[in-house]
Amino acid sequence: MRDDVLPAAVRDRALALAAENRLPAYLYDLPALRDRAGQIRDALAGAGVEFLYAAKANPDPELLRVIAPLTDGVEVASGGELEHVVAALPGARVAFGGPGKTDRELMTAIRGGVWRLHVESPRELNRVIALAGRRPVDVLLRANLPFGVAGAALTMTGPFGMDEDDLAVAARVARDAGAAGSGVRLRGLHVHLASGLDAEQKLALDRRVLTWALGWLRERAPGLERPEINLGGGMTVDYAQPERVFDWPAYAKGLSELRAELDGGPGAGGAVLRVEPGRSVSVHAGYYVSDVLDLKLTRGQAFAIARGGTHHLRTPATKGHSQPVAVLPGPGRSGDPLDDDALTVVGQLCTPRDQLAAGVPVRDLRIGDLLVFRMAGAYAWNISHHDFLMHPHPAFAYLDPAGPQG
Ligand SMILES: *Cc1c(COP(=O)(O)O)cnc(C)c1O
Repeated sequence: MRDDVLPAAVRDRALALAAENRLPAYLYDLPALRDRAGQIRDALAGAGVEFLYAAKANPDPELLRVIAPLTDGVEVASGGELEHVVAALPGARVAFGGPGKTDRELMTAIRGGVWRLHVESPRELNRVIALAGRRPVDVLLRANLPFGVAGAALTMTGPFGMDEDDLAVAARVARDAGAAGSGVRLRGLHVHLASGLDAEQKLALDRRVLTWALGWLRERAPGLERPEINLGGGMTVDYAQPERVFDWPAYAKGLSELRAELDGGPGAGGAVLRVEPGRSVSVHAGYYVSDVLDLKLTRGQAFAIARGGTHHLRTPATKGHSQPVAVLPGPGRSGDPLDDDALTVVGQLCTPRDQLAAGVPVRDLRIGDLLVFRMAGAYAWNISHHDFLMHPHPAFAYLDPAGPQG
């Protein structure tokens, strides 16, 4: 793949990292990230839609500090992410969601003055009420809706959120708690049903979600002022065609039209709309920079062995794709040149699954040349090891090798 797809600053820094013997490396283009987040913010703000960043896509503090000032807040999906984001961004607005929250995590959120809590079940809501006492906690109920999603890469049904029966129970629990003096207040609904949708597909889904949500709010939470509807994330990124990015201006315009048609908007006393994208914000700002350790032709198939591998960049292995890659002549290149139309790039791990890219056309590739993997700014380093989502590590227990009697 050609190297002219790389911004000059990225190419220069990649070469410098190689010269300093610092490969493999993650390289983040923070100016590009700021531009991207700014474009998303401008499109959404123009449509009167709030913008949260889903930290699970990439919680790197350097990235958070660039993105957060351009958003209305940060969404976290675990107690680990909550503590991490609060430490990286003191005073930031944080929305806390995710299944299976522990009492300890809920207490940390409540004591820390979490901005919004996305509640996953009536039982969780009862626990929040018990833990909160009179402390104010603003909650959204996460809805699990039976909407088939055409074109989705991943559908978030099953255990996530509440069906209509549980939502009705939760609405009643919230109302009774409010009447009894609890600090817990119902603010609206949260719906994240799928990922991998382009603007048109997401708007088609949002139309169904909004129609349902506005009806539900009128029926189950009458009198709720400026109810909030969080439409989730999942805006697509395309590893096969990196230049095909989610059309935020078209999406934002579509959302404002939808709201005008179905509701009227905050100015008209209507709902507050909010989205929480992750990957679409950060994916293009990250690069995994490696170099070629070995080249071989095995039974006619050309392989490049890259320094590092899927323990650093797990994305192509989990998603079953070829990570887009640009090749640069390395500062210490050596050996015979390889020309091939369908090079397979693997890492250093002793498993056939340690494959980063396939079908890569190369000309004059040599040992020491750089492999700059693109679109490594989301679900890349942070899903490649046991720190994914920053849940606590497991304990390690060992049965006595001598046996129970030993
Ligand atoms: C993962 C997730 C997101 C972000 O999804 P992207 O596909 O990265 O945009 C947003 N909201 C919830 C509830 C999520 O689980």
